[in-house]
Amino acid sequence: MSRPFFVLHKNLLKRIGYIEKIFPHMDKKIKLFEQYLEDINEAKAAKSCPAPTQNLKLNTKNRNATIKEYKYGPLNVDEPGNYWKDLAEDWDTTIKAVKSSLCGNCVAFDISPRMLECMPGPVSDDDGKLGYCWMHHFKCHSARTCTTWAKGGPIVSDKVSKKWQDKNPI
Ligand code: SF4
Repeated sequence: MSRPFFVLHKNLLKRIGYIEKIFPHMDKKIKLFEQYLEDINEAKAAKSCPAPTQNLKLNTKNRNATIKEYKYGPLNVDEPGNYWKDLAEDWDTTIKAVKSSLCGNCVAFDISPRMLECMPGPVSDDDGKLGYCWMHHFKCHSARTCTTWAKGGPIVSDKVSKKWQDKNPI
């Protein structure tokens, strides 16, 4: 059975009123939705990149701690002073051996494609490249080293990088 015209008309007016009520807030809702999408993207980036790669203050704090506790260096690769000699004495080995044990071939040095995408700027210079240190959580340089260096790197595959991240959710 068809409904009387006044009932349809009443329903239509109700719907228009409803739409009118919604539309004044539509801009605001779209903006909120856009903000929501941005937040999701930021959260995704934060999850896929280690925090120090996105946070300069945290990166600097961790790097300074590694300099202090584990002799990360040399500060200036071109002017190392006694750095290599002192480290060779600490490790009871030769300068040559120390100079061949660098971040660049350390097990914790991550230069996988996914990690390079987390780096906020250029990653290479004349001396080498930047990567992420999974032991001390900062962006370190392939031409430096520290006292916790361990053979087996660098990390070049996304799969291995992800495994390190799963074990170090920072
Ligand atoms: S643990 Fe390895 S990658 Fe990290 S600072 Fe030391 S030598 Fe470099």
